[in-house]
Amino acid sequence: MSEHVLVINAGSSSLKYSLVDAKSGEAAATGLVERIGEDQSHHVHHGPHGDADDDHPVADHEAALEAAVRAFETHGPALGDVDIVAVGHRVVHGGDQFAAPALVDDDLIAAVTDLVPLAPLHNPANLEGIEVARRLLPDLPHVAVFDTAFHQTLPPYAYTYAVPSAWREEYGIRRYGFHGTSHSFVAGQAARLLGRDVRDVNLIVLHLGNGCSATAVRGGTSVDTSMGLTPLEGLVMGTRSGDLDPAIHGHLARVAGRSAEETDRALNSESGLKGLSGANDFREVSRRRAAGDERARLAFDVYCYRLKKYVGAYYAVLGRVDAIVFTAGVGQHAADVRAAALHGLEGLGIHVDPVRNADPDDGFASTEDSPVAVLVVPTNEEWEIARQAVEVLASR
Ligand code: ADP
Repeated sequence: MSEHVLVINAGSSSLKYSLVDAKSGEAAATGLVERIGEDQSHHVHHGPHGDADDDHPVADHEAALEAAVRAFETHGPALGDVDIVAVGHRVVHGGDQFAAPALVDDDLIAAVTDLVPLAPLHNPANLEGIEVARRLLPDLPHVAVFDTAFHQTLPPYAYTYAVPSAWREEYGIRRYGFHGTSHSFVAGQAARLLGRDVRDVNLIVLHLGNGCSATAVRGGTSVDTSMGLTPLEGLVMGTRSGDLDPAIHGHLARVAGRSAEETDRALNSESGLKGLSGANDFREVSRRRAAGDERARLAFDVYCYRLKKYVGAYYAVLGRVDAIVFTAGVGQHAADVRAAALHGLEGLGIHVDPVRNADPDDGFASTEDSPVAVLVVPTNEEWEIARQAVEVLASR
């Protein structure tokens, strides 16, 4: 029997949804409402009875979810006709309170509200999605699945920043890590590809989408991850800088009179591939690089060099590595990134096979006899959210 979960990912001006069978991972319908609150919003819905693609004003998240419910009626499947067991909500920041997904109640909403200072862009939108969905779908259980939860297993020496203890105690300054739902899903899939139990394998998982993060996974648990207090730290991303000297903030304040907010915004929205090459989309960077654009060439080199440094660092953290796993848009599709990031690491037992890397249709990009496998695994955060929501219900 199928067990459908309506998975909701609410952003500040968007609402992404999908109706997923937690058992098979199959999506019965998917949809996205974008530019909520603007003059013309955009709504796409893919259902069994057809697709919708409309531009019309959608005032707020409540109107967006109402539009989604109407699209389910028109293009299927009608929500009343499907056996929906839960609504699963993606929540970005669970702080150190949430090491696992949890049933939504008023206490959870209060706790996630308290975490808003740690994720001022994301948690308010996620809360809005939860509140609207609880109003419109009051008879279903709602489950919050946190991006940070998978990384709550980091040991103190990995999550602690060497800063004054008052910062840590009063403001919760520490590494939390993100993309946990994806890292957890991909680790499970990688173990399956290796034909081993996830508890027996050590993995370096590289999630390379618009946001990018690396995680060291020992026996199925996260022991270190590259994103920190916020998703800014670590790898080079589409528009985020990743690691840099923390003194840059103060330096820019002194020499350019830039406020903390201005520098923060630039590091989050104007940096990364965009800051280096002018384009944040990896495919565009590749096109420019192929056309001989020097800035795009440097962007590619900086991006891959940072990846290589994390592979080396997490190799040392884990001691023994069974596989390096690439996922998300760039990780799955950019063979040149995989080759460049792992180039010259044969001494560590990492042997990329150029032919398999170019078309890793069975998931393997390494040579048959490579001691460390190189895997390419599609992520599926919606399925993982659906599965975790069902697990929470089962444990009640
Ligand atoms: P998100 O993080 O928003 O979920 P994705 O995982 O879809 O995003 O990743 C988006 C990134 O993947 C973009 O930079 C895009 O250019 C890149 N990407 C998608 N397809 C390809 C491809 N075929 N080759 C190289 N990069 C790709």
